[in-house]
Amino acid sequence: MTHLQITGLAGEARDVAEETLAAFTAGLKGSVLHPDDEGFAESILLWNGMIKKRPAVVVRPASVDDVVRAVNFVRENGLQLSIKGGGHNIAGLALTDGGITLDMSGMTAVEVDVEGRLARVGPGCNLGDVDRATQEHGLAATLGFVSATGVAGLTLGGGFGYLSRRFGWTVDDLEEVEIVTADGTVRRASRTAEEDLFWALRGGGGNFGVVTEFVFRLHPVGPQVTAGVIAWPASEAEGVQDLYRRIVETSPRELTAVVIRRNAPPAPWLPETAHGTPIIMMVVCHSGSLEQAQADLAPIKAHGEPLADLILVKTYVAQQTLLDATQPKGMHYYWKSEFLPGLSDQLFDTYNAQFVDLKAPANQIVLFQMAGALNEHPEDDGAVGNREAAFACVIQSMWSPDSGAGDANRDWVRGAWQALKQYSTGGNYVNFQTEDEADERTVESYRSNYERLETIKAKYDPSNLFRVNRNIRP
Ligand SMILES: Cc1cc2nc3c(=O)[nH]c(=O)nc-3n(C[C@H](O)[C@H](O)[C@H](O)COP(=O)(O)OP(=O)(O)OC[C@H]3O[C@@H](n4cnc5c(N)ncnc54)[C@H](O)[C@@H]3O)c2cc1C
Repeated sequence: MTHLQITGLAGEARDVAEETLAAFTAGLKGSVLHPDDEGFAESILLWNGMIKKRPAVVVRPASVDDVVRAVNFVRENGLQLSIKGGGHNIAGLALTDGGITLDMSGMTAVEVDVEGRLARVGPGCNLGDVDRATQEHGLAATLGFVSATGVAGLTLGGGFGYLSRRFGWTVDDLEEVEIVTADGTVRRASRTAEEDLFWALRGGGGNFGVVTEFVFRLHPVGPQVTAGVIAWPASEAEGVQDLYRRIVETSPRELTAVVIRRNAPPAPWLPETAHGTPIIMMVVCHSGSLEQAQADLAPIKAHGEPLADLILVKTYVAQQTLLDATQPKGMHYYWKSEFLPGLSDQLFDTYNAQFVDLKAPANQIVLFQMAGALNEHPEDDGAVGNREAAFACVIQSMWSPDSGAGDANRDWVRGAWQALKQYSTGGNYVNFQTEDEADERTVESYRSNYERLETIKAKYDPSNLFRVNRNIRP
């Protein structure tokens, strides 16, 4: 009998008889890909090109039954399992090295219930799939800033974006989840069914099973918003930062503004003379009435002498893709993040100090405005916690694989993070953690909600079958 070597639950090599795998494959509606098969290479491509894990087998389920079969198969054979949604997790948690990867990209249905203002979303969807389907009806779910990001990973870690000031974390709008748990049972969890599981799924990551459907509450948004990007030379940084503080104190929740400092990319929307020079940008999205937006955005558009001002009336769907090209798939990425309770003078001094003599072409520190609806829930409303977060500070580097810039970029990110973390709430975003972040950072993400997560993990996944994630140990 011939065998295939597949990584076991604890990382050990296990022999699986080819007949056993063939019997599993035969019952699937979806497909199974081996390393030499067409489509295998594409199915293990991740956004972060730095991750080099390679599963022994990729399973592409086409139905909930397929997922049940796959979960039973890995459990009965003691195999290591990973789940790939959009493949955007920076730590590469979508893949297992030598184990079985469930690639959910075949399950991308989006069903919009216009009257009920709900969307039923398949686990292989990216944000753009949902935005396009919901915006056809002038509705939107509270999702993130880059349309290629997977809905599954983003939602399971909490999720925030341009609409979070109005509606909260993505999981505050989660109504129901269909999930296959470690015992192979299909469950529907909500505020009124399997409540503890639902609580854990609202931020606790992929620890509790394979999600086969998300149901989101939708809100009337757009289809037109006033949004875009405006950039000034970094010599104006202090003035822009003062303006930013005034904006965040006074603007309604319809306006979300993000600050980014970096060296100017060679982008056609910026004057060529500015390329490579230090700049400061604001990315904004105003989802209120066009008149209100004009009034609220006027101080930003009138400030100083911008190098370029691309804030205009556009579709919400277009705004949701504005940043996509800045985050190309396959580059190498390294980030650190902290949530901030506010923006002090000292914080901006420390922030600005990170850019003295910075040569790296794509390193940046982003300040995402979050304060609003998410602060109005108690800390234990869902596992996501971090209800005191007013901003997310994300220190980001990106470089091409052959540039040799990895060490210098990682050092810059770590140095900036060491300097800035004194201003943190003490919490960080589980979805922004890189490969080298240890378990303490996961505990810090959940803080007072961590113990309850451990209890629920022990109930639904006592053998820790779902461990290729920011793992909660049972
Ligand atoms: C360019 C970029 C922009 C981003 N912008 C935002 C943003 O605006 N807001 C925000 O909140 N976050 C943002 N993120 C972070 C993002 O939320 C995480 O990277 C998230 O993990 C991506 O989800 P994914 O499905 O693409 O990831 P994957 O890498 O496919 O999966 C990540 C993990 O999610 C779990 N998972 C995936 N699918 C399932 C499933 N069906 N069932 C159970 N578990 C599953 C698994 O544990 C998996 O290991 C961004 C990330 C990137 C790279």
